[in-house]
Amino acid sequence: MVDNLIVINPRGFCAGVEMAIKALSWMLKIFPTPIYCYHEIVHNDWIVEVFKKNGVIFVESPQEIPTDSVAMLSAHGTSPEIKERFLKKSSIMIDSVCPLVTKVHHEAKTLSEKRTHIIYVGHSGHDEAVGAMGVAPKSMTLIESPEDLNKFIPENPNKVALLAQTTLAISEWDNILERSKDLYPNLIVPRKSDLCYATTNRQEAAKEIAPEVDTILVVGSSTSSNTKALVKTINNLDTEVYMLNNVDEINKIKNLGKRVAITAGASAPDHIVQEIINKINPKKIEYFINTEEEEYFPLPIELRKIYKNTEVLLNQIFPKSKINKSNRIFANDREWTATDALVAL
Ligand code: SF4
Repeated sequence: MVDNLIVINPRGFCAGVEMAIKALSWMLKIFPTPIYCYHEIVHNDWIVEVFKKNGVIFVESPQEIPTDSVAMLSAHGTSPEIKERFLKKSSIMIDSVCPLVTKVHHEAKTLSEKRTHIIYVGHSGHDEAVGAMGVAPKSMTLIESPEDLNKFIPENPNKVALLAQTTLAISEWDNILERSKDLYPNLIVPRKSDLCYATTNRQEAAKEIAPEVDTILVVGSSTSSNTKALVKTINNLDTEVYMLNNVDEINKIKNLGKRVAITAGASAPDHIVQEIINKINPKKIEYFINTEEEEYFPLPIELRKIYKNTEVLLNQIFPKSKINKSNRIFANDREWTATDALVAL
């Protein structure tokens, strides 16, 4: 029996995931199905299944979509070449890339234009790394570990930059950053780290609570990079850690210990956390808030434009029933959550 369960905050959906889920939910309301989505909209098995059941077809290439279909690009970011191909093939295309991934794409483009070679720290084959590397493939080298740096020989050691996948474990990034600084004294790094606030906040909170507990449960799917980074961070602290994709997976744990904490990756829905808490049924529940998150990312611009054009048209057809600022459906987007959107499907 668990004596004490500590529920860690922040956990679960980040602003990028919130935005992407809401955007795809709107697409399902506005356009006829199927809607084609390039890559999993966010890396969570439960969410992907919900969208599949509601008429979304997930694809891995623009070749898979019929001409003139409605398409969505995932939160992980898409290379310019693939984006162009989706644009040509679809009648409507909405890009739900997280703005923090766009920041990295922008950095890669600017640096490559200055003929700087970019070392990109990421996980080979991950959707975000594939998208980012596609921004300037000839000027970028993907590395996954400090050892990989030994194999990299730049044309000009004085023009080397270091960028990163947003969802790395802080320790992964720090090790490579230190080694790169030693190798390249003129190394260019972004003023603000590429690791996103949600990834670092969830890791920092888990690090704070780890010494207090026997076990930490991390809710999320094995496809989720930030969830795996969270697990890796806790593993480095020698605290017992389990990644759970759903409530049933709790049955595989033989001994949770007396004091347990629970958190969730940035794409994990909170109802799974609640189901696990109910299943554990601890004697006492405590809440640990390490930091408050207030980040908000507005819906993709293309989606807002579609709504705006529809609004103009409706106002022309029905001039007496003017849609104004107060009754615009996107006006309350900040208060409307991804959970609300998923429930409304
Ligand atoms: Fe954006 Fe970070 Fe969320 Fe990824 S984990 S969608 S980079 S906020």
